Amino acid sequence: MATPLPSRCSFFVQKKNRFCKMVPGKGRSFCGEHATMEEGVGGSRRITCPLDPKHTVAQQNLEKHLKKCNSREKPRPVYYVENINAGRVDRDQEFPELLKVSFCCQVTR
Ligand SMILES: [Zn+2]
Ligand SMILES: [Zn+2]
Repeated sequence: MATPLPSRCSFFVQKKNRFCKMVPGKGRSFCGEHATMEEGVGGSRRITCPLDPKHTVAQQNLEKHLKKCNSREKPRPVYYVENINAGRVDRDQEFPELLKVSFCCQVTR
């Protein structure tokens, strides 16, 4: 059985049959991508990531993981996304259902 390289991530990549070559943060034994594995060591359940079945995540860390998962579909900066969301909410509140209804009537006539 191979051992992880010194000062490298100690996650074993089964597909490649070798240890991960990423450099982990100070005092860590796993790189950022595999940090969730570290917390999962010790028998806690690992499940397949719902966003990307190519990797797994400790069930207890799923919520945390979903917020930072590399496979999220939004590579855009957070502030940009927030602006869009805020705009949508405002518009929905300013235009009541009535307006939509009368628009529908005009179309059908
Ligand atoms: Zn790694
Ligand atoms: Zn993920």
